Amino acid sequence: MDFKNLIAHCKEYGFIFQSSEIYDGLSAVYDYGPYGVELKNNIKSYWWKSMVQMHENIVGIDAAIFMHPKTWKASGHVDAFNDPLVDNKDSKKRYRADQLIEGYAEKIEAKTLKDIEKAKSRFGDAFDEKQFRETNDRIIERQKQIDDALGRLAQAMTAGDMDDLKAMIDEYEIVCPESGSRNWTEVRQFNLMFNTQLGNIAGEEGKLYLRPETAQGIFVNFLNVQKSTRQKIPFGIAQIGKAFRNEIVARQFIFRMREFEQMEMQFFIRPGSQDEWYQYWKETRLKWHKALGTSGDKLRFHDHANLAHYAKAAVDIEFEFPFGFKELEGIHSRGDFDLSQHQELSGKKLQYFDPELNENYVPFVIETSIGCDRMFLAMIANNLVEEKVPDADGADSVRTVLKLHPALAPVKVAVLPLLKNKEELTKAATDIYDKLKLSFNCQYDEKDAIGRRYRRQDAIGTPYCVTIDFETLENGTVTIRDRDTLEQQRVKIEDIKSVVEGRVSMENLLV
Ligand code: ATP
Repeated sequence: MDFKNLIAHCKEYGFIFQSSEIYDGLSAVYDYGPYGVELKNNIKSYWWKSMVQMHENIVGIDAAIFMHPKTWKASGHVDAFNDPLVDNKDSKKRYRADQLIEGYAEKIEAKTLKDIEKAKSRFGDAFDEKQFRETNDRIIERQKQIDDALGRLAQAMTAGDMDDLKAMIDEYEIVCPESGSRNWTEVRQFNLMFNTQLGNIAGEEGKLYLRPETAQGIFVNFLNVQKSTRQKIPFGIAQIGKAFRNEIVARQFIFRMREFEQMEMQFFIRPGSQDEWYQYWKETRLKWHKALGTSGDKLRFHDHANLAHYAKAAVDIEFEFPFGFKELEGIHSRGDFDLSQHQELSGKKLQYFDPELNENYVPFVIETSIGCDRMFLAMIANNLVEEKVPDADGADSVRTVLKLHPALAPVKVAVLPLLKNKEELTKAATDIYDKLKLSFNCQYDEKDAIGRRYRRQDAIGTPYCVTIDFETLENGTVTIRDRDTLEQQRVKIEDIKSVVEGRVSMENLLV
């Protein structure tokens, strides 16, 4: 399904609404509707269970959004959490300079892909893309342009060289997508943290930040957690919570928001063991994604060329969103950067006594960090499909179905009396509904023809529809319809729960 229709579907079926829509919305801020909140909670629950519940040596916390302002000085966010900003003087539109340069490289690559498509159709099965890329002069030249641009970009970003970014925009003759003009301002650093003011302290002293990541709440509590749970290294602390970033360019729906939610885990390890644990968490996190049925072709690792101020090594798990492969999750080897910084600025020791080595040290950290909203978008994009199915008369019709893993589905079972105005049927259906709702998130629906009700459940991803018909009254059985196979099975009322549980249980994802 194309991206525009996906966004429309999310609104129409109560997954996501633009924030403050009646006032024309607030840019890059979104509200989750009745089915959205269920899906989001299920994503969070899957993450929490697999990280915290399944690991004896990982515990959770829930730190406050506000933190002492020195936290952000120590973490490097006050000085280095910037994006390079450039304005187009004609359109008055704001851009991230690095994204404009990346866009330039992507355009060159798009030309290459076009040539590859042409060659493919000309040579058919005999076509060898690798060989073509390595031998075609035009493509070799283009690849060199891409590598040069991206290499220079990485260097300028690492060095914070705004002048060179501006020089690149000029040299590559990059135009504003809106106005088509090359009338750019200088490139300058823009800090992404939102700030606010404490009520009782005036001026700089009382300046507070809305946290731009949840990780720091974990670092400053490192010893509190370690001592209160008596964990031994290696161990992890996990947290799910809101984060805020004043993104310069916030497009692409819930991919880039100004208020979003992160699921982060910091794994504290012995210095020297970082390569091994980095590898472990890369593999473990990729498995987590694949368990949901996401195909390996849609996921890939992407090593960072341009490392963040805290990172020794960093890799993204990228997902193929409708607008291309983009970061879904980051895995970072942070060394002892954060704990050492906090130790220095707070003057408090943040060390661990390792009984096996009989020494104190500041642990190293491997971080896994995933955006809950991006995961939500990935799940919708990956599972929302239109497909041809036979209608009641056997003719072809199209249905829109959200083929979410059943453990993530917002509603697990819909209970549907065949007819609305037959009291025997509605009574039997409400009795079944009242029992099932003790175990699952269920929905009772008696409005409209049964086919339309099935379609409504397909659109929100309900794995099972239970239909109560006249046979139910005779022999205590119902039909249970499977969202994906469309098969209808007759089962006894008392067996509904176990049939549903077999597929919707989160256990299926955790083993
Ligand atoms: P990007 O390069 O896309 O801006 P990032 O590298 O700054 O992302 P991290 O700081 O590593 O992101 O944050 C960890 C995760 O938080 C990301 O992988 C992403 O899933 C999520 N995330 C970051 N920024 C946003 C945002 N503005 N909106 C939604 N999710 C976000």
